[in-house]
Amino acid sequence: MESKNSLHLAHRMGSLEPSATLAMAARASAMIASGLDVIDLSVGEPDFPTPDHICKAAEVAIRAGKTKYTPAAGIPDLRKAVAADCTRRTGLAVTPAQVIVSNGAKHSLHNVFTATLDEGDEVIVPTPYWVSYAELIKLTGAKPVLVPTRIEDDFKLRPEALRRAITAKTRMILLCSPSNPTGVVYTADELGALADIAIEANLAVVSDEIYDQLVYDGRTSVSFPTLRPGLAERTVVVAGVSKTYSMTGWRIGWTISPEPLAKAMGNLQSQETSNPCSVSQYAALAAITGPQECVAEMGREFQKRRDLVAGRLKAIPGVKVPDIGGAFYAFFDISDHLAARRNGITTTLEWCEAMLEKEHVALVAGSAFGAEGNVRMSFAASEQKLSDGLDRIERFLT
Ligand code: PMP
Ligand code: GLU
Repeated sequence: MESKNSLHLAHRMGSLEPSATLAMAARASAMIASGLDVIDLSVGEPDFPTPDHICKAAEVAIRAGKTKYTPAAGIPDLRKAVAADCTRRTGLAVTPAQVIVSNGAKHSLHNVFTATLDEGDEVIVPTPYWVSYAELIKLTGAKPVLVPTRIEDDFKLRPEALRRAITAKTRMILLCSPSNPTGVVYTADELGALADIAIEANLAVVSDEIYDQLVYDGRTSVSFPTLRPGLAERTVVVAGVSKTYSMTGWRIGWTISPEPLAKAMGNLQSQETSNPCSVSQYAALAAITGPQECVAEMGREFQKRRDLVAGRLKAIPGVKVPDIGGAFYAFFDISDHLAARRNGITTTLEWCEAMLEKEHVALVAGSAFGAEGNVRMSFAASEQKLSDGLDRIERFLT
């Protein structure tokens, strides 16, 4: 009998996919580095520099020797600032003990799933979903139950679809508004209807609100636990500084949860990573407590880009786009074009490959988000790049 390689992979790695968004971004970067004129609209990363006052705070922190381990759950001032900022913006009473600061919101999500899910538990994930949700859930042995939504409903989960997906094993619902990948923003009534079902079925809710400050046309993003009395007891809010302050590389995110869960996640983190980067925590503190004009400024730029992208995509025959109310993604439907089987292309993966090879535009296939037939375009890029990219998309489609 052939003996197993001593470094064979664990079962849990068997179905783990690499992040499709990061994989596409890496390919686009390599092509750009080789001298090709590639327009990268794959990854969701603000293209603005991190505001200067935030960078300065990090410099000061380094010089002041804030370069050592910090408490595992984050420095007290940052936990306090996140709690106070949440209370100021949502009216929800939040204590610093409910806040766990992590190495990015992706790590926060990993903490929540690891600390709450058991083998065989089911988590309802509306599709299209952000690529990492299903993989992070699967790592715990739990099962993501993908519930499709329709572009006609602006890709919002309808209460009856949620009800139908609930089984005896359902533990949790995962929501993301404003949404990555669709840019769609739920109203308070729409979320309230889902909250009622969560309460009735005694389910936990993870509300990914990382794009909460990036909404357009005067909309407000409603924080899920504010919707019903007592909802905070079953909800974990996930957020961070990556998108709001253009701080993706600093890796600071957080959870706001009931205290016992926060404590467990702090313990988990103390064993896994010790603490989030000390210098980045001081930078995040400056971001949250410092001047906020930068957020509004970036928001105005993103809204202009949203107008450009949504307008141009809608004008292409056979392309459908939902109502993009926030975040910086356009998730557009090209299924009519795929049905025509032009150049033998029938899937969005093949279509995105061809776009990259022939037109040098990097986009992400809808299949990576559990919604074949659609393509995601990040509009976190300059208007010039977006405009050139849209020219190429239009040329390729028509
Ligand atoms: N949630 C959503 C919906 C996202 O788009 C991202 C972006 N990467 C994250 C979480 C994680 O963000 P980060 O780890 O950079 O804080
Ligand atoms: N959230 C961004 C995106 O979806 C960043 C990439 C990632 O973290 O996977 O493109």
